[in-house]
Amino acid sequence: MPSSERTYTTRVGASNAGAGQAAVEVLTDPSLAHIVDLVAWPRGDWLMVANSEGWARVPLAEPAAAWQVLRGRNPITDEDPLHGVPLARALADPSPPNDRNSYPFAGPRLASVFEDADRSPDLVVVHTPAHYWPERGGHPGEHGSLDAGQSRAPLLLSGPGVTGRGRLDRAARIIDIAPTLALLAGAPMPTAVGRPLADLCAGGPAAHVVGLLWDGANCNDLLDQAAAGALPAVARLLSRGCALTGGAVAEFPSVTLTNHTSALTGVGPGRHGILSNVYYDRAVGDQVIANDAKTWHQACEQLRPGVATVFEAVATARPGAVTACVNEPIDRGAGYSTFGLVRAMATDGGASGLGDHLPPTEGDPHATAEWVERDHDYAWSTRVDALGLSQMRQLWADPTGPPAFTWWNTTLTDTGHHGGGPYSPESRAALADADRRLGAFLDLLDGAGLYDRTTFLLTADHGSEGADPTCRGDWDDALTAAGVRFRDEGYGFLYLDRLEHPDRLEHPDQPGHPDQP
Ligand SMILES: [Zn+2]
Repeated sequence: MPSSERTYTTRVGASNAGAGQAAVEVLTDPSLAHIVDLVAWPRGDWLMVANSEGWARVPLAEPAAAWQVLRGRNPITDEDPLHGVPLARALADPSPPNDRNSYPFAGPRLASVFEDADRSPDLVVVHTPAHYWPERGGHPGEHGSLDAGQSRAPLLLSGPGVTGRGRLDRAARIIDIAPTLALLAGAPMPTAVGRPLADLCAGGPAAHVVGLLWDGANCNDLLDQAAAGALPAVARLLSRGCALTGGAVAEFPSVTLTNHTSALTGVGPGRHGILSNVYYDRAVGDQVIANDAKTWHQACEQLRPGVATVFEAVATARPGAVTACVNEPIDRGAGYSTFGLVRAMATDGGASGLGDHLPPTEGDPHATAEWVERDHDYAWSTRVDALGLSQMRQLWADPTGPPAFTWWNTTLTDTGHHGGGPYSPESRAALADADRRLGAFLDLLDGAGLYDRTTFLLTADHGSEGADPTCRGDWDDALTAAGVRFRDEGYGFLYLDRLEHPDRLEHPDQPGHPDQP
């Protein structure tokens, strides 16, 4: 659909203009500048951005156009997707403030957030990368913001059909993942807004395509650890392919389910409908918690019409082709799916009920014992991923033939990056666990003579930056003190109208860590 046909919502309008104006005034006050990187909202035909130092705007219908500065300094001065690349540059200025930070593809990513008539917030608040908010579910390592560090997922291509070689200083977007996978699998993806990385991939379908999503893996650190010998399976993939040092830039907000969905559909949140891990739906009149163990198996019910998954694209182009989706909620159209099994179980708790079926950590040669003992979340996530590997082994040992397209989601990497922050012993242990499981799978393919016939794409759903434990504060307290009526979903999506649940206005229940049960 051309951009001129898009419909944008504008709700900082007549009925609540006062609330919108008051909210922007509160949120751009210098007293909150340490936690509010910027705010964005639609006004008429414009996408507005502002922070304590200035205002700017861009046309909603042409969000990639140059910003018009309205006042002071543009909050989005730098959009370089290679900002903070490679690792040494990120370490030299970790979690940088607004005037030293970069916001790749900021206009198009922010515009998408305001595209859904029922679910889009009236205004989004972008956390500074340093903001530490444990009382609202924040962690030492965080993502969700608009900046390069929290948005940058790795992107690595490997195997037959891949023509790119080595580390390439360029970047793509998460919405490019689906059309690239579809191209490798020999399927067109006309519903995608993203573009396939056609200059890095030869035409013609590969015999087998495997998409790997290592949730929350830091791109700089993944490439650095692979080069240092700590991730031999990733290095093995890279030896017959390429990696973009600028990675794949997540859609906004750079949270999990929004970007799993963008990676598998090729469209932004305003088009696919999963606006954030948690959002408000005006048509339903209630909060939707999309990214939760209890609801993952129902996530595809939130997809908007006109959206297709890679599984559906492959099924349409190649009838009878076997597809599989391991540990991934966005599974619509997949022949095999972990969450299909959860739906078949039909229990009240959804994937919470999987706990009884997870392999034990004891005796798992791929789990780092130190972190299993020290972090309960780590222990749970590594068990989930052990079950993922076991599914992969079963799928690829099937005598009817391995899948033409497989998607394998890894959870532990996000847990390790939240728990210790990027570049930490815990995040690196999580990467190593994931790499050992990938290595076990590659060995299986090697033994079956399938490795040379399989093309891989390794990515993530977002990046990771370390919070500053001294950078504290809560903009909701400031809004409440100023008399603004609002709901704040997922800590940053402000809804200023349709306040049907006044008892939950100020601090709607947080679902806890969104990737945890
Ligand atoms: Zn994630």
